[in-house]
Order: sequence, then C-alpha cells, then structure tokens
Amino acid sequence: MQHFPIFMSVAGRRIVVAGGGDAAVAKLRLLLKTEARLNVFSTHPAPEIESWANDHRMTLYRRDLAPGDTLCAALFYGANEDAAEDARTAAIARADGALVNIVDNLQDSQFITPAIVDRDPVTVAIGTEGAAPVLARAIKADLEEKLPSTLGTLARIGKAFRKMADVLPMGRARRDFWAEYYFHAGPHAVTTGGENDVKDSLQTLLKKHLTAAETPGHVAFVGAGPGDPELLTLKARKALDAADVVIHDRLVTPDILELARREATVIDVGKQGFGPAMAQDKINQLIVAHALDGAQVVRLKGGDPTVFGRLDEEIAALEDAGIGWHIVPGITAASASVAAMGQSLTQRGRNSAVRLLTGHDMKGFADHDWQTLARSGEVAAIYMGKKSARFIQGRLIMHGADRVTPVTVIENASRPDQRCLATTLETMAQDLSDASITGPALLVYGLAPRAAQAALSSLKQELA
Ligand code: SAH
Repeated sequence: MQHFPIFMSVAGRRIVVAGGGDAAVAKLRLLLKTEARLNVFSTHPAPEIESWANDHRMTLYRRDLAPGDTLCAALFYGANEDAAEDARTAAIARADGALVNIVDNLQDSQFITPAIVDRDPVTVAIGTEGAAPVLARAIKADLEEKLPSTLGTLARIGKAFRKMADVLPMGRARRDFWAEYYFHAGPHAVTTGGENDVKDSLQTLLKKHLTAAETPGHVAFVGAGPGDPELLTLKARKALDAADVVIHDRLVTPDILELARREATVIDVGKQGFGPAMAQDKINQLIVAHALDGAQVVRLKGGDPTVFGRLDEEIAALEDAGIGWHIVPGITAASASVAAMGQSLTQRGRNSAVRLLTGHDMKGFADHDWQTLARSGEVAAIYMGKKSARFIQGRLIMHGADRVTPVTVIENASRPDQRCLATTLETMAQDLSDASITGPALLVYGLAPRAAQAALSSLKQELA
C-alpha cells in the first residue's frame, strides 16, 4: 500500500486550487461537498467558478498563484492543465507546506483523491493507486446502486442518537440495536414516513432492545429432523425465529436454515469439502462464547439432538459456564426411515424392542452385543453404518444370524433425493458399495420395506 487511506478533517481549513478550466471545475465540484475554505487562482476562470465565487462558496483570485498564497493551506490542487504551470505552482505549494496533488500526474502528487460514494456522513472512498481507474469506477457504480439514497439521512439521525443508545450494554446489545435500525426499522420508517418517523422508530427500538438486553444468553438444543423442513416441530420453528445465533452441523439442510431469523448469525460447524469439521471442544467454546455475549443461541442438530449428537459434551460446557439451556426434540433418522419403508419400528409379536446403534464410535468400528442382535426378530437402526457395514455383517453372521435377515438402507430419508435399498445381511456390504451412496444413510436391520416383505418371506420359505 503506497497510499494510506485516511479521512482528513478539512472543516474551516484552506484548500487551494490553481487553474480555472475543466479539471479545476471537476475538483471544485467535489471540494464543494466539504466544509473547507476554497481559494481558486485563475486568470481565465470557467463560468461555473465565477458563479460559485459570486455566491461566496469560494474565493476567486484572478491572477496566477504566487509564493505565500498557499501558506497554511491543508491541500493544494494543481489543475492548470499545463505541465509547466502545474510544476511551478506545485513547487510553491510544497515550499509553503501544503500537501500537493497534480491532476492526472500521479508521480508528482503527494496524495490522490479517491473515487467517492457520498451518503454523507457515510462516505466510501475507493482507490486503486492509479492502477485501474476503470475498476474504481465499476466499484463505485456498484456501491451507488447498493447503498440506499436514504442511508445518509439514517446515519445523520443515528449519529445524533448515539449517546441515547449508550444506555444499552456494550457489545451484542448495542450492535443488535444499530443493525436493526440501519437494516430494518430505519429504512422502513424513512420510506413510510419521514425524518420524524425515523426518530420515533429509534425511540421504540431502544425500548424494545432495553428489555431484550435484560435477557441473559441461553442455548436451545434443537432437533432439525431428518431434512424435510415440514418435519420440524413448532417449537423448533419458534426457536429459529427467535435465535440471534444458529450453530448447525452438516446434516441440517439449507431449506431449514432458510427459516432462521434474517438477522441471525448462522455458523456451520460441520463443513465438509473445505476441510475437516470443527473439533468438538472448539464447537463447545463457540456456543459458550455466544451465550456469554448474551445471545439466544440455537444449537441445531440433525434428527434428534439426543441421538448420537454429542449433546452431553456441549451441555457440560454450558453447565461449567453457568449458562441456561433446554432441549427441543426432533424426528430422528430411524423414525423417518421406517416411515419411508412403510414400517413400524416395533410390532406386537414381531419385535418388542428396537435398538439404536452406531456403526462407529470414538475407538473405530463400534462393538455391540452381537449375540443378542443375531437372534431372529431383532430390529436395529444403525446410524453411521456405511463404512462399517462389512464389519457388522461379519460379526452378526459369526454369531449365527440368519444370512437372509432383511436389511434396508435408507439414504436421505425424508428428502427429495431419498433412496431405499432393500438388501439382506449377506449382501448388504456389497449392495451398499454398488449403490454408491453419498448422502446420510441409515441401515435398518431386521426390517424390509413393507411392499418387499411378502416376496422376502416366500424366498425364505424356498431356502428353508
Ligand atoms: N441426531 C441424528 C443422528 C446423527 S448421527 C438423528 O437423530 O437422526 C448421523 C447419522 O444419522 C448419519 O450417518 C445417518 O446414519 C443418520 N442420518 C441422519 N439423517 C439422515 C437421513 N436424512 N437419512 C438417513 N440417515 C440419516
């Protein structure tokens, strides 16, 4: 960065412009936006300059600049459109101690004037160090479009209200107040009413945020269900509506995240593709930090938060920090999967119990009571079982399980791309790898999809 951007106070200070042609007029147009005292030196001033001088908006000297004319000036612009005159006047200004800019001569200039987007008091300055004026213009055009013309009004009224808003505690409470003002309440009031409405909206908003500021941070562990947004509970929706911060894992679908409050900060702690997921203790710290900052946090987990969700580690971190929490249950993948199969999880006379198993745990492939599971009529929902399918298959067969025990693999249960693969214990590992499953998948051991059940029992009879 050869040029360091700063905003310099020029109120009441002198800015001197040498020249009276188009270049001088263009610079003066900009400088007229400031509260500086403008002095122009030109023997042939353009009519605009004459009229500005007549209106006392600047002082016009109908002569060439001479030594001493730039004494105590903050800035000097050489806009003579004549290289020799620019050099002569710039030397005088430099000797008088003013900062010098020569129009269209970057090399001999001590500062440059950026492209400006003006929503006073909000000012955006864009500079490319002379490298790409086209780019600067494009960025300016883009911002001109993006920043509402009312922004200046909002900022001016907001600035006058700053002291009043200081009654809000520092940090989140104040940030939230101002964010709501600038992005929602303010623009709304300015378009429907006028400046007075904007002032009223600030008062109303402050009352609302003062009440909110008294609410301590809290964490809701919310079950997002298997993916279909319509399978969210009403409580989950309410929690999402009220959340300041939503911290979610990989299983939560974009459709569900859409339901979060627009102003909420949404954090993905289960990113895949851009590197490994965030470590659990980092996630714990993140949740605690936001809650301590006073946020209403929704920790959104796929399915039900109490099923293979590492919930207890997060609760322990909150308890240590003295933060309040509660659980909003969700529909777990097992429920969504058997629903897709047209089956019950339990059935009188068939299976009076069902197990929720994980394919792998912290130590690798998870061990279970294979002996019991191998008995006929057992039903188990195996989570995270894709990679361990061959291991599970081997263990169960080794313990005497029937090789044609039905196994149903449900991928993306409840989502538009849901797939249902009916297989058996004997073929499940091969079928799984042939099916090249990429989404989350649940193995339902001991149950076939209802339509396939009749065919399967006749096959069993043939084999018997
Ligand atoms: N708490 C979640 C489970 C988290 S463990 C729940 O209650 O559902 C992650 C595993 O859940 C995945 O490996 C997969 O086995 C299963 N799973 C989650 N969502 C699923 C879905 N929509 N379809 C099939 N299996 C799913």
